[in-house]
Amino acid sequence: MKRRFAKTAALFAVITILLSFTACNDRTATGEYFDVFGTTLYIEGYSAEEAQSAAAVMREAELLLSADIPSSDIGRINSAAAGESVTVSGLTMTLLLKAREVYLLTDGAYDPSVYPLVELWGFAPGDFVMGIAPDSLPTDGEIAAASELVGFDRAFSLDADALTVTKLTDGAKLDLGGIAKGYAVQNSLAGFSDETLVNLGGNIGGVGRDYTIGIGAPREYTHSYIGTLTLHSGECVSTSGDYERYYFFDGVRYHHIIDPSDGRPADSGLISVTVVCRDGALGDALSTAIAVAGEEKGREWLDALSADHPEISAVFVDGDMNVSVYGRGFSAV
Ligand code: AMP
Ligand code: MG
Repeated sequence: MKRRFAKTAALFAVITILLSFTACNDRTATGEYFDVFGTTLYIEGYSAEEAQSAAAVMREAELLLSADIPSSDIGRINSAAAGESVTVSGLTMTLLLKAREVYLLTDGAYDPSVYPLVELWGFAPGDFVMGIAPDSLPTDGEIAAASELVGFDRAFSLDADALTVTKLTDGAKLDLGGIAKGYAVQNSLAGFSDETLVNLGGNIGGVGRDYTIGIGAPREYTHSYIGTLTLHSGECVSTSGDYERYYFFDGVRYHHIIDPSDGRPADSGLISVTVVCRDGALGDALSTAIAVAGEEKGREWLDALSADHPEISAVFVDGDMNVSVYGRGFSAV
């Protein structure tokens, strides 16, 4: 598929999904901005040193996890041939095991092996520029061929003890874009000694007190956000939506969340899904899965998880901007 746009321009495609509102009047803290994981990291807390070290840890994770960095663990797996075992870091293995858990829980709605389809639709990080459509859409044949490569358990085998990943299908590729930012935010929280809010491209976590978080409006609305929710210390929140990375082609919106069951941008009836969870990686992957499979399936999965994760909650927005809520803490504007 030919593209009208330059790869480097992708660097400017930064969208913040969630807005954070914090009461700062009594605080001396300042915020720090960093570039990491292809997006903006904003840390608001008391210690610039802690913020800098959190950003450095995230950069290290990015160097292991990003599909568009050829030397990363994921980059090396993606360029490996079938049958080749690639040795990865403990961090990469931990996240792949978590990704597999969500893949199994969601019957493959969340599937970290979806990358061939993400590339085909033009949403790979080096290709996509917000607001610019490709010259043509993938053909049915191309979608069928890329779909053959997708299916985490079919295409990859993990050896957690040996820290190796073996590709079983030539051309299969991994993409942790639906889980890595939530993981990175959650992982950073233990490093803050006092009140701190971390916002990595809309994946937010907070420590030290409660925070009021605005959920961004996925379409034109009376406000820039549809409502707020309360984030308790140690919790993370992630939003997935069809408005984050998309293009219009012949008046139809095509977006970055791909339904592995038909190889096309998800059409579940939901345009935005927000999940709150102490496990930031789980919440991030789950918001992606629910955006793929819809509210009914999402509620089943949340029910199944709520015994182990009593704090888990979610906000669903459908194409008519109707909002519905699972769990606690949401107030409409
Ligand atoms: P998020 O914004 O967390 O929903 O993540 C979306 C990103 O995850 C996309 O930009 C793709 O890189 C990747 N992705 C797209 N569809 C899926 C899927 N069905 N399962 C896992 N990752 C996906
Ligand atoms: Mg996600």
